[in-house]
Amino acid sequence: MDPTRGRPPRTHPRPHRERRFRGRVPPTAVTSCPKMLIVLRPGCSDAQRKDVVDAVRAAGCEPREIAGKARTVIAAVGDPERLREIPLEVYPGVAQVVRVTKPYTLVGKEFRSDPSVVRVGDVLIGGPGRFVTIAGPCAVETYEGLLETAKAVKAAGADLLRGGAYKPRTSPYAFRGLGLEGLRMLREVSRVVEIPTVSEVTDPRHVEACVSSVDMLQIGTRNMSNFDLLVEVGKSGHPVLLKRGRDATIEDWLLAAEYVLAQGNMNVVLCERGIRSFDPATRNLLDLSAVPVVKARSHLPILVDPSHGTGFAAYVPSMAKAACAAGADGVMIEVHSNPQEARSDAAQALTPEEFGDLAGDLRLLVKLLHSGALESRP
Ligand code: PEP
Ligand code: MN
Repeated sequence: MDPTRGRPPRTHPRPHRERRFRGRVPPTAVTSCPKMLIVLRPGCSDAQRKDVVDAVRAAGCEPREIAGKARTVIAAVGDPERLREIPLEVYPGVAQVVRVTKPYTLVGKEFRSDPSVVRVGDVLIGGPGRFVTIAGPCAVETYEGLLETAKAVKAAGADLLRGGAYKPRTSPYAFRGLGLEGLRMLREVSRVVEIPTVSEVTDPRHVEACVSSVDMLQIGTRNMSNFDLLVEVGKSGHPVLLKRGRDATIEDWLLAAEYVLAQGNMNVVLCERGIRSFDPATRNLLDLSAVPVVKARSHLPILVDPSHGTGFAAYVPSMAKAACAAGADGVMIEVHSNPQEARSDAAQALTPEEFGDLAGDLRLLVKLLHSGALESRP
């Protein structure tokens, strides 16, 4: 055991189960940003709803109806100029008319006030009192290694298995993943261990193969602004884990999510993974304030990845617990059956035992946070 594993450097640093392509309901794309949202009253009748829909159409806009748990919203897609002249506020079925001033609409809180819940296999992400853990190696390396890690993390309570088959690497000489062979391993391990999977897609041409092999598509930090890729994962209708770009503002990130939702795919989960900073003491600067900021602006679930956020195994448990306390909907943690032999991101990988301890702590923390004990203090 290398005693320096998982610790920051002391000296200068610089740092085949075929699944069907799951288009679900063929998504309908929104091609211009809806600038007006019409919120219907809870008891709105069908006839009242139809009056609103007809008025939107008559004004030359396309009505997009989204039924939430608490309320139904009709988004007017197109130029709302003529719609502004119609007194929608006084229509009997209408509770409120919201003029959108932000550059995004579909990801915003005005569009949907209750938190979105994204289903990945049998796992639900988002919604009050729910906290998910995603765990697994940075990269899929061998079938046996992936199987061993998957069994261990599932036994420790992980909800999803992660593992990259396509690895975007800074150096062209670094291990770039096993590609299709890696996807096949994920599919088989998922079947044997009965755990849903998430894996990164780096190229629009790989989307179909990834959709038929894993339960959730990850868009990595380097591809958050790959707009063709965002459109393609949007069209797939498959759940998407969208990581924050290394230099992205929260608004840039929400607009990237809007690309996916605009294709009709509402199944997006955000993941804060740290942004670049001047300080090499950690690999990135994990921006935990992104959690409450995103929660204030968007209905999408948000996870935190403290592995890439800090770069060192020794710091991962503290920041995972801090993410939970900050209100994140879950964490994504890199775990390797033998971190010293990991072909990528060895320094930040937890052992299965370390992950087991962390998962136990997180369960206790979630229980405490949702027990009401903190709110009831004077
Ligand atoms: C990863 O999750 O393995 C990864 C490459 O993450 P990021 O895109 O956040 O660097
Ligand atoms: Mn990694």
